[in-house]
Amino acid sequence: MTLTLVTVGTGTVAPAAARTGPAHWVERGDVRLLMDCGSGAIHRLAQFGLAWEHVSHVALTHFHPDHFGELPALLFALRHATHRVEPLVIVGPAGTVRLVKSLAEGFGDWMLDPGYPIGILDLQAGEPFPLSPEVMLEVHPTPHTPESVALAVTAPEGRLVYTGDTGPSADLATWARGCDLLLSECSLPDGQGVDGHLTPRTAGELAAAADAARLVLTHFYPPAEDVDVRAAAAARYRGPITAAADGDRFDVAG
Ligand SMILES: [Zn+2]
Ligand SMILES: [Zn+2]
Repeated sequence: MTLTLVTVGTGTVAPAAARTGPAHWVERGDVRLLMDCGSGAIHRLAQFGLAWEHVSHVALTHFHPDHFGELPALLFALRHATHRVEPLVIVGPAGTVRLVKSLAEGFGDWMLDPGYPIGILDLQAGEPFPLSPEVMLEVHPTPHTPESVALAVTAPEGRLVYTGDTGPSADLATWARGCDLLLSECSLPDGQGVDGHLTPRTAGELAAAADAARLVLTHFYPPAEDVDVRAAAAARYRGPITAAADGDRFDVAG
């Protein structure tokens, strides 16, 4: 069995030709988890040959529209472009249930009763949620929005931590400690950083403090395209670093 990550969308809210909004696919056996569901996600899933029809879980990190805005389109696609009967579970930070219900007020009741069973849950830090008997999902708060969380997927093969959106956080590093792959946001170049986001250097510092075995950078605003983010992160972190592109695949192995 392998725990696989595909960086489906490595961009941000800023439209970009080669990077769609945040979305990352995690697959292990019957678990097919989509972490965030940003603009362009469903067409990218098809483009990269991922079994979007059989997505088992969607996990949101926070409620900025570039991280969840394509969720209604995914539910609609599963309703009209598949013969789905298996359940779909949507999880996220506190407020996820309320968010999806409010979306349904606009889009229609089908969102809550799309023709296949649907479950929606708010997750709490410190309460691991089983995606399968062997795969656990955990959340941990990040300094970005009041509800924002990072996600960790733990399987026998290894542990993957996805920061979602975050500013620097020693607490997050402690929680992520020893992970096999740290998928970290890397919004803007050093010198152009803003509160609530990371730069290559602060992403490298997070990976070093967490003693992550591998660092994968994502969530690049256009100015980040103009610098060597790998080299900048490498100034603070000695492990292997990848600046992810849409469609890159990673084997998360301990
Ligand atoms: Zn955000
Ligand atoms: Zn973002």
